[in-house]
Amino acid sequence: MNDRSPVFVGNWKMNKNASQTRSFVEAFLPLAAQLPPSVGIAIAPPFTALAAAAAALGSGNRVALAAQTMSEFAEGAYTGEIAASMLAEFNVAYVILGHSERRLYQHESDATIGAKVRAALAAEITPILAVGESLEVREAGNAVAHVLGQIRSATGDLSEEQAARMVLAYEPIWAIGTGKNCDRESAQEIARAVRAARKGFADIPILYGGSMKPENAAGYMEMPDIDGGLVGGASLDAGSFAALIAGAIAR
Ligand code: PEP
Repeated sequence: MNDRSPVFVGNWKMNKNASQTRSFVEAFLPLAAQLPPSVGIAIAPPFTALAAAAAALGSGNRVALAAQTMSEFAEGAYTGEIAASMLAEFNVAYVILGHSERRLYQHESDATIGAKVRAALAAEITPILAVGESLEVREAGNAVAHVLGQIRSATGDLSEEQAARMVLAYEPIWAIGTGKNCDRESAQEIARAVRAARKGFADIPILYGGSMKPENAAGYMEMPDIDGGLVGGASLDAGSFAALIAGAIAR
């Protein structure tokens, strides 16, 4: 069962090799140690750096590991894919599923994303389901309906107990990597709709993602349904990621 303690996840995308990952972890661990233990922190390096990250993080569990995606299948003839059990070898705690870049470039459908969510839950890896609308959909006034549709497709057949073990990330596509973050009231409107979307979501962490920076993170955290961040660019530098988290929770 999840709770609504703050969670910040750094999505590194296709950045950092193994040695750059080691350097980040060495710089970041002392900074993370100064943050309150009630704040969940995770980094999502590329697959090729998971082993280096796991080794550098050591046996302490202050900073968890996340994967950027995974296969919906357990094993077999799926060239290039990575199974949940392979992630579990590195104590991966979270997996980001349905990121808009995967939906766009790898053509992942809501049905595939739903299968991945089920596979992650079965492997006891917490899925971070990313949802969000394009600028066109927002300007047409359909952002809430679009996000709720994505959630219905990906989680419709889950039990309440399974849904309660998820994390949701609202990431408006037009705000990712653009420097144009979504205003916090609009993000809250979607987060509130997400929380009400289905049984099991009442107490899950809902994250905002999209150009979250040290300067704007605190504003989102003041919103009643936003519990943390899925952070791309600002998580690549240890000092910036730590400053973002520290700023976000300083109230
Ligand atoms: C992301 O990749 O999930 C993301 C939110 O990126 P950025 O923070 O760089 O907009």
